[in-house]
Amino acid sequence: MKNLLVTGGAGFIGSNFVHYMLNKYPDYKIVNLDLLTYAGNIHNLDDIKDNPKHTFVRGNICNRELVEYLVKEHNIDTIINFAAESHVDRSILHPEIFVETNVQGTLALLDVAKNMKLEKYLQVSTDEVYGTLGKEGYFTETTPLAPNSPYSASKASADMVVRAYFETYGLNVNITRCSNNYGPYQFPEKLIPLMTSNGMDGKKLPIYGDGKNIRDWLHVYDHCQAIDLVLHQGRKGEVYNVGGHNERTNNEIVHLIVKKLGLTEDAIEYVQDRLGHDRRYAIDPTKLETELGWKPKYTFDTGIEETVNWYLANEAWWRPLKEKAALK
Ligand code: NAD
Repeated sequence: MKNLLVTGGAGFIGSNFVHYMLNKYPDYKIVNLDLLTYAGNIHNLDDIKDNPKHTFVRGNICNRELVEYLVKEHNIDTIINFAAESHVDRSILHPEIFVETNVQGTLALLDVAKNMKLEKYLQVSTDEVYGTLGKEGYFTETTPLAPNSPYSASKASADMVVRAYFETYGLNVNITRCSNNYGPYQFPEKLIPLMTSNGMDGKKLPIYGDGKNIRDWLHVYDHCQAIDLVLHQGRKGEVYNVGGHNERTNNEIVHLIVKKLGLTEDAIEYVQDRLGHDRRYAIDPTKLETELGWKPKYTFDTGIEETVNWYLANEAWWRPLKEKAALK
């Protein structure tokens, strides 16, 4: 494994992953295919634009001919698919593009991987495919899929197609399902950068519903480490859940940010709940820990502190994105 096609590598997790891999494996080559939708940002890659081991290509994962061409031209042996429409709120308004990119795009990549006999295909998925939990219990890899939003339904559908390519054609696939990521370079429509940047601007910090929805937070660096392990050591056809046992309510996260920014609770505003809002996600990462020896580097306390500091220091990065997307 030496020549990787990373898709969606100008987005939040993908760009962190590209940096992680170039640092850790200086002899690997990475072709980074990204459509640069509203969520993709070429400036996430500014510091590696002259790196001879990294080639950026603007294009669509649904374009089979392009994917085939890149695989041939760069002697690609592995595909890692991060490219997706990723925001639940947008999926409620425009589900079609989620099915197109997340399902048909995945199918196109799988087809090329099969036809061109690639060594491995890794699908980056989400814990949201499992639906919602009550107060108790955790998602394991055998929890039945029960997606509730158009976003999670499109991701679950893609996972099913990945599974079928293993079962039917014997393609060497893995699926990783991670919990909510946080860290640098996250598009400012997502909870932590949105709240931090709103707070910096003296705007309200909007919390959906009663704010008691629980997410299991994972630092993007620890996610990259997990993908690296699955890529190199994951058993053929297996799914691996990724999560660091950091369950927090949205209220807890926003209160932490309020405190860190020196604001008062008056900055918080409760707004109408998201349609179909899942109540609780929590991951059981035992398989990844015991089989592949994954250990997160960050605790939530160290990770959130570093992350909020990053947004405070990098206003020049997030402000143009926020203004362009007209985020409130
Ligand atoms: P993101 O929205 O920040 O980035 C997605 C990237 O994909 C963008 O750069 C965008 O330009 C690109 N893209 C979109 N459509 C494309 C297309 N048709 N062809 C090529 N590129 C296209 O998303 P993210 O948060 O970095 O998430 C990456 C992956 O991880 C997604 O598959 C997502 O479902 C999954 N995931 C994310 C989280 C999270 O908390 N962020 C949690 C679990 C799983």
